[in-house]
Amino acid sequence: MARVTPLQCPYCNTMLRSPIDINFKDMEFTGGICPCRAIYVLDRSGRNMGETYMDALTFLSRGDYDKAMNLDPEEYETTELDYNFQSNTIGSKKAGEKNCKIIFAKLKSNEQKEQ
Ligand SMILES: [Zn+2]
Repeated sequence: MARVTPLQCPYCNTMLRSPIDINFKDMEFTGGICPCRAIYVLDRSGRNMGETYMDALTFLSRGDYDKAMNLDPEEYETTELDYNFQSNTIGSKKAGEKNCKIIFAKLKSNEQKEQ
């Protein structure tokens, strides 16, 4: 049996609140921010991962879409988890249960490379 645990940051293990609706610059999505500067974005359908990744990277770039598009995969890490909105838990879903996906993203270095 796969483990089911409360929503927790995969990078620093901080317990996190349920994703909330966020309006940031031109962005609208459901997610949150961890104290370790990782961010997370919810994909309610679990089937819209491309867009969810883009939202995550754009939010990671503080709303700068162009910067997000030009992020080097070496500069950040992402983690994709099954998420149950009702119980605010992550882990594998049970048969017949509808789960969302949640994407965590974090820049590997806090140094900003401005060019
Ligand atoms: Zn964290």
